[in-house]
Amino acid sequence: MISRTPIPGSSAWLYYTRAGVPHIVYSTVNITKFPKGAGAVPYIVLAIFALAPIGIMLATAPKHPTPLRAHPLSPYDDGAKIIDNAGVLSPSEEEELMSVFSEFQKTSGVIPSVYTVNNERWASDNWLYSQTLEDYAFNKYVDLFGDENHWLIVYSCDEGTDKGHWAFEGIQGNNTDSILFGNVTDRFNHSLGSCLDSDKSVGESLIDSFNLIIPDLLNDTFYIEPEMLVFTIVWELFVAFAITSVTVSQIKAKQYATAQKIENPESIVMKKCKHCGASYYQGTVQRCPKCGRSVVMDDELDGKF
Ligand SMILES: [Zn+2]
Repeated sequence: MISRTPIPGSSAWLYYTRAGVPHIVYSTVNITKFPKGAGAVPYIVLAIFALAPIGIMLATAPKHPTPLRAHPLSPYDDGAKIIDNAGVLSPSEEEELMSVFSEFQKTSGVIPSVYTVNNERWASDNWLYSQTLEDYAFNKYVDLFGDENHWLIVYSCDEGTDKGHWAFEGIQGNNTDSILFGNVTDRFNHSLGSCLDSDKSVGESLIDSFNLIIPDLLNDTFYIEPEMLVFTIVWELFVAFAITSVTVSQIKAKQYATAQKIENPESIVMKKCKHCGASYYQGTVQRCPKCGRSVVMDDELDGKF
């Protein structure tokens, strides 16, 4: 235990930093025997710790989308569905959307679907407990589809309007992860949001946004999960903290190794070097800790040494 102030049973120890600044600390043990750490070993271990998650992140970032194919053990139970409860799609838009969906499925094996609902409706359906549109959309997916190969967009707006307080949520089946990476759905969501903010109808917005992503669905891409990135950053902060702690304790141990025990810390006199003005304690050094010139003569004159 090393303290800046006296503790019961402790002795005073004086050491000079590399810059020549004197410090007195108190310790119950001989601080010159302070463990010096294991040199480079902790740094090598910490470097491995630091690089591991970055390596995993970079190794898993390249994505090679693979189209879903109907499998005997996980067949498609349902086709594409457009259910317009909110009445925001025209018959011709529904028809065009359906052909976009079949193009989407032909390319990727994922089946898109759209469900529209009024804000009042899904809010009152769930008056017993407060539920988000995401919860509602998730339950709707489970109601509508028996398989995990769909991508359901639930669109919601105020009753009697097309785009009053609009919101949407996308729910993707478990099997679609190999196609619908975060950057694909991010691009779709961003497009749909800005189309809905423009003069386009809800139907046009959906058609344009699906058409935007279809050509790139099977392209190789580079994507880092946001959770993975956050984890890596937090991890690296911990490693940086550990490296700092190891470095500080190694520097301290080096300084303590040269410390000298002071019997009467109350009577020790601080002096200034005549040559450079640096401070030192009388009788503890023969040379100025900063400029290196001899201070023996000065101290002798004062009756020390
Ligand atoms: Zn000096």
